Amino acid sequence: MKSQRQPKTRIGYGFDSHEFRPGIPLKIGGVVLAHDKGLGGHSDGDLLLHAITDALLGSMAAPDIGALFPPSEAKWKGADSVVFLREALRRVEQAGYIVTNIDSSLILAAPKIGPHAQAIRSRVAELLDINPDCVGLKAKTPEGLNTENTAMAHVVVLVEKRSQKRASRAAGKAPSRPKR
Ligand code: MG
Repeated sequence: MKSQRQPKTRIGYGFDSHEFRPGIPLKIGGVVLAHDKGLGGHSDGDLLLHAITDALLGSMAAPDIGALFPPSEAKWKGADSVVFLREALRRVEQAGYIVTNIDSSLILAAPKIGPHAQAIRSRVAELLDINPDCVGLKAKTPEGLNTENTAMAHVVVLVEKRSQKRASRAAGKAPSRPKR
């Protein structure tokens, strides 16, 4: 017989890729980076937030970002990808879990991510309500992949079951849970 016990921790994994297009803003991790090209897509093309969203949804074995926010629906045209991430996080928290940490790899030829890494980590941490030192961000150039006009993101997330004390506090009057 299968155990009904909910696991204390769960992992999630997300991947995304978008093509560079001239003349549109480049958004990565909710931060606009100065560059001559941006990432095309039905929404704002923020591949890192998309991969994080899919990792969060994956940790709950929930439907993926494309199922929840179909590109065929006009209302998601040009959407701020923060909306997708917030819905995924809501599902995680509704199931009684909080995010422990995430790790990510970006693969893109340009621009260099190093100068923007702290800003991206801080923004992602803020969105996930975790500390920036719990947001791993690595960037690689696409050696041997022939994908110079594409950006890719891989993300893993670890979530943990909220303690009963925290869960009842979150369900009570407290407006938000304290930062860890
Ligand atoms: Mg995407």
